[in-house]
Amino acid sequence: MNARTADVVIIGGGVTGTSLAFHLARRGVSRVVLLERKFLAAGGTGRSVGIIRQLYPMPETCRMVLESLRVFQHFPELVGGESGYVGCGALIGVSPATLPALARSLQIQREAGIRAELLEPEELSRIEPRINRSALGAVLYEPESGYGDPTGVTLGYARAARDLGVAIEQGTAVTEIRLDGDRVAGVVTDRGERIESRAVVNAAGLWAGAVAALAGVALPLIIGRHPVFIVKRGPAFGRAHPVYLDLAGGSYVRPETGNLTLTGSLTEDESRHPMDPDLLGSETGFEEAASALEKTSRALPLLADCQYQQGYAGAFDITPDWMPILDESPVRGFYIAAGMSGHGFKLAPAVGELMAELITDGRTTINRQPFAFDRFAAERRPTGDFVGSFLRC
Ligand SMILES: Cc1cc2nc3c(=O)[nH]c(=O)nc-3n(C[C@H](O)[C@H](O)[C@H](O)COP(=O)(O)OP(=O)(O)OC[C@H]3O[C@@H](n4cnc5c(N)ncnc54)[C@H](O)[C@@H]3O)c2cc1C
Repeated sequence: MNARTADVVIIGGGVTGTSLAFHLARRGVSRVVLLERKFLAAGGTGRSVGIIRQLYPMPETCRMVLESLRVFQHFPELVGGESGYVGCGALIGVSPATLPALARSLQIQREAGIRAELLEPEELSRIEPRINRSALGAVLYEPESGYGDPTGVTLGYARAARDLGVAIEQGTAVTEIRLDGDRVAGVVTDRGERIESRAVVNAAGLWAGAVAALAGVALPLIIGRHPVFIVKRGPAFGRAHPVYLDLAGGSYVRPETGNLTLTGSLTEDESRHPMDPDLLGSETGFEEAASALEKTSRALPLLADCQYQQGYAGAFDITPDWMPILDESPVRGFYIAAGMSGHGFKLAPAVGELMAELITDGRTTINRQPFAFDRFAAERRPTGDFVGSFLRC
């Protein structure tokens, strides 16, 4: 068997793995190898809706999303390539009952330096008069939020990482993780090659559980189905809408070029709909599309006249608290950057930086406690739902 040595091996060529590769190389780690079993962005990244909202219930994630936003905004200068960032603004509507939780999160956002404003429903007409405000108690307006292009960001990071000397090998799956006592010793690939390394990172997204099992590590992940629907807005709709997350009615919309809108549900608890990740991208049924679009057109009534284009099954790698695991596992040198729970695109620049700090320095600028490997000792099934990653009631 061929053998070589690397300082760090990254498993997975999605937005997480490529961001990490870039940050490691920028910190001077010279022999970084990224292994991707298919092609870059073949996993959840390539199916992502790419929304960048900044509403988070914790100071750490607020700081991370703001740092990431700045990277998306200045991607050509900071990384190279295009992030596809469109700062169309994001509106987040909540019911009257959720207003206190929103006010708490707003306070945390402001302390982190995020620009956000609480609007009375009547004030919505100033930003987007077409939204149905009948069930809303308030709306959060984030003028700098919007969306980006997860595949573009991945390719940008990969190219910049390659320029800094990272070896990115596509069509190469890790089939074995080698251990030396209680620490990692390297990987074996399906090309019959052994790569010796004392640092291996699991950034395998929807497949992270299977990859961790190769090292005898159990991850508390559920791969939960999240279908996405694409509709075409009619001529009567007029100018594109901003990103709108209707937490009261349970749907979201984000505009796309060509008069398209991507939409999906915020009320289906994905953790209750386990999915084989290899079914990523498969077609959705007509009935589920109809029920999702009903909610969408309640939120934005002019979308009732839209033309249905297509639906596909996405999936989230969900942890019990809907926050990622960013830590070393009990196997020394085997790191986990997974469990992104449906919001890993908007955090990816900061996640890559945090993991690179952890691997090179053993400590991180941002408090890593909320992302610790061992935080789930008591509760391993997801509690709450995706919206819990926005606000905690
Ligand atoms: C439908 C959908 C909508 C989303 N919407 C948003 C959103 O609006 N905003 C947001 O911030 N986030 C969103 N997300 C989440 C975000 O896109 C993901 O969290 C993020 O892209 C995950 O990236 P990743 O690199 O961690 O994992 P992935 O993109 O899943 O990458 C993992 C990679 O590992 C590879 N791999 C697996 N096993 C092996 C192996 N044995 N050897 C080598 N390689 C392997 C896979 O082929 C894959 O390419 C959404 C996700 C989906 C699916």
